[in-house]
Amino acid sequence: MPNDLGRQYSLHAQEYEEKAVKVLRSGWYVLGQEVQAFEKEWAAYIGTSDCVGLASGLDALWITFRLLGIGAGDEVIVSANAYIACVMGITINGATPVFVEPDIYDNIDAEQIEAAVTPRTKAILAVHLFGQACDMTKITAIARRHGLRVVEDCAQSHGNHWQGKTVGSIGDVGCFSFYPTKGCGAFGDAGCITTNDPALAEQFRMYRNYGSRVRYQNEVVGANSRLDELQAGLLRVKLKHLPAFDAERRAIAARYDAGLQANKVGLRLPKIRPGADSTWHQYVIHAPGCRDALAEYLKAKGIGTIIHYPIPPHLSKAYAYLGKKPGDYPVAERYAGEVLSLPMYNGMTEQEQTYVIEAINAFEGR
Ligand SMILES: *Cc1c(COP(=O)(O)O)cnc(C)c1O
Repeated sequence: MPNDLGRQYSLHAQEYEEKAVKVLRSGWYVLGQEVQAFEKEWAAYIGTSDCVGLASGLDALWITFRLLGIGAGDEVIVSANAYIACVMGITINGATPVFVEPDIYDNIDAEQIEAAVTPRTKAILAVHLFGQACDMTKITAIARRHGLRVVEDCAQSHGNHWQGKTVGSIGDVGCFSFYPTKGCGAFGDAGCITTNDPALAEQFRMYRNYGSRVRYQNEVVGANSRLDELQAGLLRVKLKHLPAFDAERRAIAARYDAGLQANKVGLRLPKIRPGADSTWHQYVIHAPGCRDALAEYLKAKGIGTIIHYPIPPHLSKAYAYLGKKPGDYPVAERYAGEVLSLPMYNGMTEQEQTYVIEAINAFEGR
């Protein structure tokens, strides 16, 4: 099984259930005390003045670009090795994604960003993929030189750092998803933004609720992207245990690092950029030339793996209108054919992991 969410739930089942009953009995279900308390606690955890709860990670992204005034005619730089939602967050507003190849750390190659800047560029979307920070020092410096906004997509990075700073506190806005599989996962859809700009946070609070601060007084055309009390309450329980969950995943990653014989069939283990740490949202190996054979082989042994992601956004059907073709971003395209995410979840036992490690070490290739 690549990701068993029931394991994590059962570790603290009673706490979740008590919280759920409390919210159900409260008679107040959307945007209330639990949401307010969660926003305070998440802002403190990330290290920002503000957090605004929203309905999903995609909402966090598109509402961010909307409120930053980035839309038709504008360009946003993003890694060609990203999740499709990152790109949708840009294009929903009519802005154009400009792709930059990933480096050996699977995230955007900061060295190539400046060449992608044009007079239309308005922002860089730094996607901290798989639980590892982008090079925020270089990204911030480029943004400053060109007067660009920096938006962080922290959907897969709940509590990891760049040079000691928690991601989501470095750019103008941090965008988080609390989809159940994410580091701090809700029990349904949820998301939020973090920022150190209280005036901007106030705009998010208004926008998520039909552009209204005072009931029936609508100041802008907004959206319905409210966080509900049940998810916020359950997320508060999760957040209490998040440091322990992250530590557990770090231990699992360390065991993979120590146990896997990387060079046997040309496997490459994940690399961590100096200055970054990882919360190991995914443990992604590269298996050039034998990824599909390896996945099949593991499946036959009862080991589930996932590919993050098999089709880079520029080649997906949804983005045919961008007119990109195979070969335009060769590194991202190569990664799509060689990455494999190994089982990595809280509650995974050492015995289960040893089974995975021994199976991979016994793999002979195609
Ligand atoms: C999950 C995810 C999103 C979207 O979040 P949802 O809550 O599913 O809308 C955006 N970006 C990245 C990198 C993600 O992993």
